[in-house]
Amino acid sequence: MAFDYDLFVIGGGSGGVRAARVAAAEGAKVAIAESSRMGGTCVIRGCVPKKLMVFASSYHESFEDARSYGWDVEDGAFDWNAFSGHLNIELDRLEGVYRSLLDGSNVEIFDSRARLADAHTVELADGTQKTAKHILVATGGRPVRPDMPNAHLGIVSDDIFHLPELPKRLLIIGGGYIACEFACIMNGLGVEVTQFYRGAQILRGFDDEARGLVAEMMREKGINLHLGTNIVDMAEASADHTIPNTSTGTDAAMGAPVAEHAAQATSGSGGPVWVKATNGTEAVYDAVLFATGRNPNTADMGLEEIGVEVGRRGEIVVDEYSQTAVPSIYAIGDVTNRVQLTPVAIREGMAFVETVFKGNPTPIDHDLIPSAIFTQPELGTIGLTEEEAREQEPVEIYCTSFRPMQSAFAGRTDRVLMKLVVAKESRKVLGCHIVAPGAGEMIQLAGIAVKMGATKEDFDRTVAVHPTMSEELVTMKTPMRVA
Ligand code: FAD
Repeated sequence: MAFDYDLFVIGGGSGGVRAARVAAAEGAKVAIAESSRMGGTCVIRGCVPKKLMVFASSYHESFEDARSYGWDVEDGAFDWNAFSGHLNIELDRLEGVYRSLLDGSNVEIFDSRARLADAHTVELADGTQKTAKHILVATGGRPVRPDMPNAHLGIVSDDIFHLPELPKRLLIIGGGYIACEFACIMNGLGVEVTQFYRGAQILRGFDDEARGLVAEMMREKGINLHLGTNIVDMAEASADHTIPNTSTGTDAAMGAPVAEHAAQATSGSGGPVWVKATNGTEAVYDAVLFATGRNPNTADMGLEEIGVEVGRRGEIVVDEYSQTAVPSIYAIGDVTNRVQLTPVAIREGMAFVETVFKGNPTPIDHDLIPSAIFTQPELGTIGLTEEEAREQEPVEIYCTSFRPMQSAFAGRTDRVLMKLVVAKESRKVLGCHIVAPGAGEMIQLAGIAVKMGATKEDFDRTVAVHPTMSEELVTMKTPMRVA
């Protein structure tokens, strides 16, 4: 049977664009459909704009520090409109780069939503059908609001980049990396940030000591972090808003007292929002950000109808080659809910092309993925946490925490953490966890050694680079404890 294309990719994000380009480079006839903006979450509403906001928010401390270093500088005011205007120009530019890369690779672009009609047919929003020998679903995920009345009054991470103005008081619900990163960003930009997380500690799944230090630093830098706390009720705040009779709710650390409802400024969510928390307090915020998780984009895609298995959270179920239950259909990236990171989606896309178009079956290696959380300070991590490792085998923990030279000189009390989790018997470094400015950059390099299977003695044989923070990774001589 003759198909219109060798490959039809649904979704122009990190994974889809890379797979389309690399398959086309192999001589395949390729098309891609994108329902929103080319580049996907990472470029348009994720990693890239977020990191630029991280940079923007870090100048506040830099001004303060500069004075300690002898510079005669005044704190300027942050202009959200100037920044977001520049940000949008940059995102337009990047989207253009993605489009021209696809054009240059002879990938046909359809600016349209697409769904599956059968194992070899894709249907575009206007009803046009296109056939392909292989179909790759790379539709990513989207932020979800909790299932509660008035949740629409809250915003999600996608909305942050389009706020008409910065809120004065922001409530963030969630304790994952996106919640924590935006808490730090907004705090750095001068927003009064309160964060509720229902669990006992933020950044679940990361090393306990590392996330403990991040939480402490976030608090020290001014974020009102409330653990074991969730939102129970929310409503539009107004002068005649009726406050339920359960609490007086005037906790100044948690937004504005309820009596001040009418005086609140409006925000991107359309107006001030009254919130009641599980701890009984009530307060008003200019915006409420739900960073409460992301779901795969699989709704109304025609997947189950044609036999593609979809899991409990809506994720497409695939094997180690990213192949679905329908042999001609593959899925990569966030839509498969494996590891939700851009470089992972890209690798899955490349492995797919290697398997299907280069005749070289390539399973995906999800082991020992380094990653970073761009809080202030950052958390860089690879491998097992202490908690995971000690369940597996006896381990030695090498750990040091100290005040880094640069901020200590400026009179700040910031601390950093360097931690190695070492297998007692094989001596292999099973995990490396760094909380420090620039930890994202550091873990990329330490990650190579860990991925290569370096032992503690390999780290020790490496001469320190002095004076740096990361030199501690090769100078920790005595285990802090054995677990
Ligand atoms: P996406 O990039 O989401 O692309 C999917 C595309 O498919 C989208 O453009 C969407 O519009 C399109 N689409 C959906 N349905 C259809 C349809 N039916 N038809 C046509 N098109 C469709 N990762 C990191 O590695 N580092 C970070 O620092 C980082 N920060 C992040 C910060 C935020 C705020 C968020 C939200 C995410 C962040 N991520 C980060 C995660 C990263 O963005 C994702 O893992 C990555 O974008 C996944 O790529 P993907 O190709 O699977 O999907």
